[in-house]
Amino acid sequence: MRLFPKLSLAFSGLLIGAIVCLSGSFYWAEQRSIRAEANAEQQAILQNLVHIAQESYLTNDDLLLVKYTHWLSKWNPEMISARVVDTQGQVIAHSEPDRIGKPMGLDDPQTARAEVLVLSAPVRMGAHGIANASVTFSQRSLEETIHRRLAQLQRRLIEVSSVSLIVGLIVCFSLALSWTRPIGLLAKMAERIGQGRWDLDLGAVELRHDELGFLSRCFHKMADQLRELDEMKEDFVSAVTHELRSPLGAIESYLNLIGEELHQGISLPDWENYLHRLRLNTQRLTRFVNDLLDVAALTRGAITLERRPADVPALVRDVLDLFAVKLREKHLKYEVQVSPLMPPALCDAERVHQVIVNLVTNAIKFTPEKGHILIQVDSLLTKKLLQVSVTDTGIGISTEDQAKIFNKFQQVRSARQTVKGPKGTGLGLVISRALIEMHGGTLSVRSQPGKGSTFYFTLPLAEAGVASQASKVANKT
Ligand code: ADP
Repeated sequence: MRLFPKLSLAFSGLLIGAIVCLSGSFYWAEQRSIRAEANAEQQAILQNLVHIAQESYLTNDDLLLVKYTHWLSKWNPEMISARVVDTQGQVIAHSEPDRIGKPMGLDDPQTARAEVLVLSAPVRMGAHGIANASVTFSQRSLEETIHRRLAQLQRRLIEVSSVSLIVGLIVCFSLALSWTRPIGLLAKMAERIGQGRWDLDLGAVELRHDELGFLSRCFHKMADQLRELDEMKEDFVSAVTHELRSPLGAIESYLNLIGEELHQGISLPDWENYLHRLRLNTQRLTRFVNDLLDVAALTRGAITLERRPADVPALVRDVLDLFAVKLREKHLKYEVQVSPLMPPALCDAERVHQVIVNLVTNAIKFTPEKGHILIQVDSLLTKKLLQVSVTDTGIGISTEDQAKIFNKFQQVRSARQTVKGPKGTGLGLVISRALIEMHGGTLSVRSQPGKGSTFYFTLPLAEAGVASQASKVANKT
């Protein structure tokens, strides 16, 4: 059975149960109160008769009592008779005037006790009883009056319950619909996601303020993340394909070339060129495989650092030497600034070298020709830290993308399209940040699209370090 009929049935059942229980208890309570009210009314009639009898005795006005008693049975249809009998058993007032002055005699209500209700009370003046007042009601008439009032109550209850039931059922159905419709919509959207379609339209459901609204917003967010993952997967596949295919293709072509030219004789400069190309492409493959292995090792926690006091400015210069040709080819100016009395950092020099290589590679890759790269090494002595920052005048990164580039295989699409040659795999920053964090430092980025980026990281200073010479080197290509 689907959720909507299930919920509707459950709600309707609960509603009907609640209405029946409420009406039943209300009817029971009202019935008791109607009976109590009737009893109180009969007692009040008797007490009034007693008061009138006392009044008539005090004022010596028998007529008042006679008239009141006579009219009493006319005012109360359920009453059979009302009378006041003096202490000698003489009737002094009666609803049937011809009985006045006669002894109580056969009028004794006990003769028909089964069908009548007799209420009596003494009439006193101070401590002396002067007469006895009694009223006789027909039990059947009393019951009929009560039944009439109960029947009225039943009618009203049925009317109110029916209206409540109709309104309640409408509310129940709308409630069930308002819960099941969004769930149905979410199920449909889940089906779409399963088919790899990301265009979700959850309409007004997302605007709801309840848990279903929250769920649909989470759902939308999840779909966005899945889409990003899907794009990431595509990017990764294309990156892997590109990073494997291009160097392998290049290696194969050079090997074929060497094979073809071997018998005709290859000149020394050609040999040098071929071997240089083969070396470059093999290095590219090695770098890619190493990146993959590093990510796997970092995920497993299988990388250990060999920390020793290290001269970070020297590492920076070493990296720049490595890239000297590339920097010259792209006509990039570069500058290294080191603050005076730089103490050594406590780090694994090889791993920090790897991080600087990654940051400088990116700076070169994403900075257009004739751009500028600045590397600063500062000591934050109060915090016992050393900070390295790599600033470029490249394409920059939007704030939204800045949060993503530290995720595995994430590359800014527009940036990827601007790059000529090897496009990278989106693993460098993940590895770099993980390595720096293993040292107890942080790696962050500040960037403005179109203006450039600064990647900066910190390392702990070696406590008993040897301060390197203050230096400021400015190299220009
Ligand atoms: P890769 O460079 O191999 O793609 P990284 O993890 O090093 O991987 O960088 C991830 C992405 O961050 C790059 O693809 C690029 O979009 C962006 N990025 C990194 N450094 C820079 C930079 N200096 N300028 C602009 N974008 C950058």
